[in-house]
Amino acid sequence: MNKVTFVARLAGLASAALLLAACTSTTSPPSSESVKSEPANVGLNKLAAVKYHDSGTYMADFARVAASAGDWLRQRAPQVSRPALVLDIDDTSLTNWPVIVANDFGRFSTGPCLLPDGPCGWTAWDQLGRDAPLEPTLEVFRTARSLGVTVFFISGRPESQRAATERNVKAVGYEGYEHMYLTPDGMHYPTIVSFKAPTRQTIAAMGYTIIANMGDQFSDLEGGFSERTYKLPNPFYYIP
Ligand SMILES: [Mg+2]
Repeated sequence: MNKVTFVARLAGLASAALLLAACTSTTSPPSSESVKSEPANVGLNKLAAVKYHDSGTYMADFARVAASAGDWLRQRAPQVSRPALVLDIDDTSLTNWPVIVANDFGRFSTGPCLLPDGPCGWTAWDQLGRDAPLEPTLEVFRTARSLGVTVFFISGRPESQRAATERNVKAVGYEGYEHMYLTPDGMHYPTIVSFKAPTRQTIAAMGYTIIANMGDQFSDLEGGFSERTYKLPNPFYYIP
């Protein structure tokens, strides 16, 4: 062994000894530091959302809100001259659960819809017109029609999806609604309240009294022009 190699090995042994000493001489307790500003964990929330849906609690909660709306229609409809019911479409009247799961809670509009594994673009999904009904809302719809309550759909879906959407709602049983209001193609709203509230105002101006408005987002319901609002559960996505 020449002198240079010997010195290099000696230096290596010294470094290892220092590292060992650093590891073994620690006397402070294990750290458990965290920050209060960290928001709720997205991955855990997704697991909780799937459990909420798959356990049946989601549908039980949904049915409870819808039943309350039905009770109100039976009570109130006979008391007003032109009673009306307003329904949102997505995850109020029709379910999007297959696309929500396929996209692992992501929401993107473009691209093909590849089911069941995803990804699935929402526009392509909507154009399929294969959404299943949310039965409790369909029951409210039937109650409304039997009471002579006029039903209007107000949806953030664009006009370019009208044919598929009208075909879809009729195919699953929503027959006999008065009109479906959709957003103009290419329009973007900072909040959908800017479209839905004035649309309800238009309905009221035609002489109807909107006695109930059902939606899965608070933005479906804010802005007035409804005697009562019914917020259905939807922890799966957010529409401002
Ligand atoms: Mg909706």
